[in-house]
Amino acid sequence: MRYISTRGEAPALGFEDVLLTGLASDGGLYVPESLPHFSLEEIRSWRGLSYSELAFNVMHPFVEDAIPADDFRDMLEETYAVFAHQAVAPLVQLDSNEWVLELFRGPTLAFKDFALQLLGRLLDYVLEKRNQHVVIMGATSGDTGSAAIEGCRRCKHVDIFILHPYQRVSEVQRRQMTTVLGDNIHNIAVKGNFDDCQRMVKASFGDQSFLGGKTQLAAVNSINWARIMAQIVYYFQAALALGGPDRSVAFSVPTGNFGDIFAGYLAKKMGLPVSQLVIATNRNDILHRFMSGNRYEQRQLEHTLSPSMDIMVSSNFERLLFDLHGRDGAAVKQLLEDAAKGPVSIADYRWRHARKLFDSESVDDETTCATIREVYQRNEYLLDPHTAIGVRAARACRRDPAVPMVTLGTAHPAKFPEAIERSGLAVKPALPTHMADLFEREERYTVIDNDLAQVQAFIASHWHDA
Ligand SMILES: *Cc1c(COP(=O)(O)O)cnc(C)c1O
Repeated sequence: MRYISTRGEAPALGFEDVLLTGLASDGGLYVPESLPHFSLEEIRSWRGLSYSELAFNVMHPFVEDAIPADDFRDMLEETYAVFAHQAVAPLVQLDSNEWVLELFRGPTLAFKDFALQLLGRLLDYVLEKRNQHVVIMGATSGDTGSAAIEGCRRCKHVDIFILHPYQRVSEVQRRQMTTVLGDNIHNIAVKGNFDDCQRMVKASFGDQSFLGGKTQLAAVNSINWARIMAQIVYYFQAALALGGPDRSVAFSVPTGNFGDIFAGYLAKKMGLPVSQLVIATNRNDILHRFMSGNRYEQRQLEHTLSPSMDIMVSSNFERLLFDLHGRDGAAVKQLLEDAAKGPVSIADYRWRHARKLFDSESVDDETTCATIREVYQRNEYLLDPHTAIGVRAARACRRDPAVPMVTLGTAHPAKFPEAIERSGLAVKPALPTHMADLFEREERYTVIDNDLAQVQAFIASHWHDA
């Protein structure tokens, strides 16, 4: 399988290189040159497979001989064995034909574990083969760093440095990162804010000379192709559990960077009958404004009760725009250059084409809390704020009550106690048993001034061959 850039100018890459590459050299994102397509008969034959067996069938065409089939099978078996539920991604029923797909049974209690647990293992496999080492550097506002750290904790050829703003992440969030102990895990608390952290990461990628040429930086952020690939699997799994492929299924997806929902779009293109995809956003609703009015326009960031969806631009959306423009990289490049300067629209027939599959809804904090309350009162089931937005949007946008509607449950409610509290419910979501001792575990992190040179010096002297 070859991978090409959405802006049409960067060289095509194979799977191994795409794994190690963030942005393409032309500023675009890598996508498969062509997608595998599965017949209904083939998909039907996957009924009853374990999650990791299904994952192998769905992902093998993307990986091909970059990893021998038996090694890839073993890797998937190991990856999904760390999830704290036998079904890996269990379905919970909310109402007749309405479901939540629980994607938060992994080590950090959010769906990002599905991709990052695999990505860490893929990276280590490829680096071992090539006898290479990488330094992963990332910034987190609290929520996503832990999934990357957990994904890399067993890697022999990866050191990971995650920057978070000192004293500006919640204690649960900090502890989820800092209690993962390992010689290759480095938490840096920067005496600054999240933007300062992000700026340092960006500057370091721009000029890697501080590493002395002995290793290189790699990114595991949401534009990494392998992350998208891993997320395609659970759409197949949920549909098969609900009577697919002999029956269509609809999905509602809490969305920030358009990664998770793009995977659902790919599942459909690969042959899975998906009749509707609902883009569920909080007040950072650039995607909703585009889907409802064909206007793509950046606005100021708002802080919400669903922080993992607080974005201004939605990076993976470029991958959909590429398809909507007949895979014309030059057109995508022009559109996004224009979008950086002001609002843009796409040709009406292209937008209408997208609307055949996608609907969208924007949900504010108040309605998020009302949804948490309502679902708890009716079902005694506690939603996290991101999933609540998904459920709300599903109910608002649903086209056909005969089609099962599945909302992706992106996080465990115990990760976001503030929203539960604000919903007025007298319940406290408990951490699952495998994390119950989080507050007793040893923490390890280093506090560093808001100064790029000091952060870079720390990294240069602490990666494990340094
Ligand atoms: C990352 C995240 C999202 C958004 O996912 P995207 O792929 O960026 O759209 C939603 N909910 C939770 C809990 C997340 O961590």
